Amino acid sequence: MSETAIEPDTQAQASSVRRAGGDPPLLYLDNVQRRYRQGDADLHVLNGIDLALWPGQSVALVAPSGAGKSTLLHIAGLLEHPDEGEVYIDGRATAILSDAERTRIRRLEIGFVYQFHRLLPEFSALENVMLPQMIRGLPRREAQKRATELLNYLGLGARLPHRPAEMSGGEQQRVAIARAVANAPRILLADEPTGNLDAHTAEHVFRVLSQLIRATGLAAIIATHNLDLAGRMDRRVTLREGRVVELA
Ligand code: ADP
Ligand code: MG
Repeated sequence: MSETAIEPDTQAQASSVRRAGGDPPLLYLDNVQRRYRQGDADLHVLNGIDLALWPGQSVALVAPSGAGKSTLLHIAGLLEHPDEGEVYIDGRATAILSDAERTRIRRLEIGFVYQFHRLLPEFSALENVMLPQMIRGLPRREAQKRATELLNYLGLGARLPHRPAEMSGGEQQRVAIARAVANAPRILLADEPTGNLDAHTAEHVFRVLSQLIRATGLAAIIATHNLDLAGRMDRRVTLREGRVVELA
């Protein structure tokens, strides 16, 4: 268990999920609730999210625009706090942790991919993938070695010195994927990663992403509107009235 004290009741909940699934889930959203104030009313975007994710498992999150996918991913990735409920990472409750500790977990354990690549425009593909590693404290040479390997793996060996503006949409998104996994996180959260790409490019980026997930044993949640792509993940879930519903 963690060094941080966990309240007895939350500990009991975490261990009951552990019993249910054998191994503990790597990511567990327990009764997560999130409301936004809209005018005079509260909008209950997440209304008791229960979602457990085990290492090596990929989940497609398929739900219409406005259903709360991004909100769920932000909370799962410790970028936002839920109003109620708890996010466990590796059995460890995260609400009570300091901002510094949450940031540390996010840097080491969680990778994000967004719909728009969000690469730094002034830096090359190689540098964009090196930076998160150097922020973590890795020496430049090691960061460069891993970034080169990753970009090669993703079919971008010829693109190392190129800036984002010099690359195609699919290439930019593959660099963003390389950056997301640069620090070898155990959890990958992708928010409509192929939503901005044409069908053919989306297919290629998705194939590369799936291969990477399988090869690394990442646990991944991928929000997507693409049912064809979703069909190739291990599990599919949707959001109905702020709750997770498993799909076939
Ligand atoms: P999705 O990613 O599925 O499209 P979001 O999680 O972005 O959905 O948003 C879910 C709902 O919450 C939407 O109705 C959106 O307008 C609302 N929402 C999201 N963020 C905020 C915010 N910061 N303030 C108020 N409402 C928000
Ligand atoms: Mg969204």
